[in-house]
Amino acid sequence: MLCVRSVSRVCRQTRGTHAAAPVAPTALSLRQRVRTAASGTALVVGGGFAGLAAADVLVTAGMDVVLLEQGRGLGGRMCSRTVTLGSHGERVTFDHGCQYLTARNPLFDAALADLQQRGALAQWSGGLPVGAASLAEDGTVDMSTFAADTSKALWVGNPTNSAVGRALAARAGPRLSAITATRVEQLSWHPHRRAWTCRARRAGSSSGGSSSADAAIAELESTSFDCVVTAMSSVSTARLLGASSSTSTSGGEAGGGSDPLAPQVVEAAEGVRSNVCWAVMVALNRKIDVPFDGALLSRPGPGPDGGPQYGPIAWLARDSSKPGRPAVAGGAGEAWVLHGGPDWSNARRDVAPADVAAELLRDFAHLVQTPLSSADVVHLEAHRWNNAYPLNPRPPQAVQPQLQPQPAEGGSAAAAVPLGGHFMLRPEMRLAACGDWCKGPRAADAYLTGWEAATALLRL
Ligand SMILES: Cc1cc2nc3c(=O)[nH]c(=O)nc-3n(C[C@H](O)[C@H](O)[C@H](O)COP(=O)(O)OP(=O)(O)OC[C@H]3O[C@@H](n4cnc5c(N)ncnc54)[C@H](O)[C@@H]3O)c2cc1C
Repeated sequence: MLCVRSVSRVCRQTRGTHAAAPVAPTALSLRQRVRTAASGTALVVGGGFAGLAAADVLVTAGMDVVLLEQGRGLGGRMCSRTVTLGSHGERVTFDHGCQYLTARNPLFDAALADLQQRGALAQWSGGLPVGAASLAEDGTVDMSTFAADTSKALWVGNPTNSAVGRALAARAGPRLSAITATRVEQLSWHPHRRAWTCRARRAGSSSGGSSSADAAIAELESTSFDCVVTAMSSVSTARLLGASSSTSTSGGEAGGGSDPLAPQVVEAAEGVRSNVCWAVMVALNRKIDVPFDGALLSRPGPGPDGGPQYGPIAWLARDSSKPGRPAVAGGAGEAWVLHGGPDWSNARRDVAPADVAAELLRDFAHLVQTPLSSADVVHLEAHRWNNAYPLNPRPPQAVQPQLQPQPAEGGSAAAAVPLGGHFMLRPEMRLAACGDWCKGPRAADAYLTGWEAATALLRL
């Protein structure tokens, strides 16, 4: 039996954290592209772009959705760190993951337009340009090669990149219950009941547990769902689905037997490799004199894989130049984010964060030819992104004709968006897997995979 009432209770308990504001749909709004005739309950695992897009599609179609995210906030790899400095408590923020968003496909562009209307996005412009430059032989930036990228608008979260995930959840409305700091350990499909359950635990700083948190987990674990969307990195997808099971049809519910859940999805996810990326956050009480606010740095000529060659720092951004960011050192200083190059980061996967931070700070000073002493540095911290980008994203799969829009569906041309196959589906158990590993290494790719995965479930 499906426990819709139980899902509603889980929903009620968590509403308010990500309360919805009224949505003003844009011309290309995702809402006009979703058939609104579904009911039932869905579990979405992962609160990045893919998971939030999937949740939006499902609630827009009429389902009650619980989204579980192990991190403290929503947005996945697009997030920010806030630190409080010194005795007078100055706040400094760093966008240490995804840097900015650009228009890439009509669905994502519609979401960007909505987020702008909600004030959750602002254009990164008005300061110095953002672009690319070459590294000189001696490892410094060859400033003469800097080329500003003026081909597209760069959108960042307002007031920080963490605002984007929150706003994507809010635009989905009250049928979405987004629960953070909760890690899904296992999924179970029960074919006899045609229902899903999960095992979960509190994650992060709140993992110590309280009786109300324990009660919430217990309630979650006793809740059944009609369908599941996994929306995580390839590594997390393989790990979760590999630990999950389907109650054996021969053993029955009482028989206790279980089968692997989705071995093909696990195998496909295991086949997608990804890079480590070290991100260093540094706040200075002085300014750095370079003619850009952000730059991708590489050496001319193909690297070993035919792509550009990166040094220790592949990207650097004057983070405090983004709109709405707090001033550093009363306006005399700056916040910078440095991203280690892929080879450099991979080789230092197991190095201590403090050592990585110190090494990249030295390289930063060398790159920009500005001596930096410890007196100049008011904050220094490193974060390791274990699965920063998919290196060999999964090629699109052929989509069965019955999952493509039918002429009568939705009654309008706007509803007839064809699926490009950027997801994996187990139709018999209403399981869809998505995430950037199913398309490409950008937020827009992740968003599209989530949209497609959820739309495919609705077309079953
Ligand atoms: C350093 C860096 C810079 C980048 N810069 C850009 C950029 O400038 N522009 C751009 O477009 N893209 C950029 N990207 C890529 C972009 O951030 C990603 O492609 C996109 O955010 C991926 O979204 P996703 O939803 O697929 O996965 P994620 O954002 O990783 O979301 C998956 C979520 O699932 C959660 N999760 C995992 N396992 C579990 C579990 N068991 N239970 C519950 N939750 C779980 C994770 O905590 C995570 O929040 C960058 C990425 C990195 C790392």
